[in-house]
Amino acid sequence: MASDWSVMKESKARRLLEAERQRLQEVMDGLQLGQLNETEQESIAELSSVDQHLADLGTETFEREKAESILIATEAHLADVERALGKLGDGRFGICETCGKPIPDERLEARPASRFCVEDQEKVEQGVIGGP
Ligand SMILES: [Zn+2]
Repeated sequence: MASDWSVMKESKARRLLEAERQRLQEVMDGLQLGQLNETEQESIAELSSVDQHLADLGTETFEREKAESILIATEAHLADVERALGKLGDGRFGICETCGKPIPDERLEARPASRFCVEDQEKVEQGVIGGP
């Protein structure tokens, strides 16, 4: 019972997710080679609280720990992207994994790999309900 709108939404989401997956894989390659540029670092730091968390460590430790944190955040995000791609086409994409309600379109557009609605995402982050 897929409507034209949902088919269109899914093909758009697939494009976004595939682009994201490619970008994340490039970041992982860059990290492993120690060749990540500033722009890439910043875009990945946005995915996590890397910067606040490590702000008061010394520079050398900071750089190393930051690279590790970024790698972990990137792997986690890549897993979310793969998971979202796996849900496309079988009607599970865009549905909150916890409450089963549709995730708002604007949220999916900003973060197509979202697994939860805004409300449940907050609960996951606070550890109220189980994460991955
Ligand atoms: Zn929910």
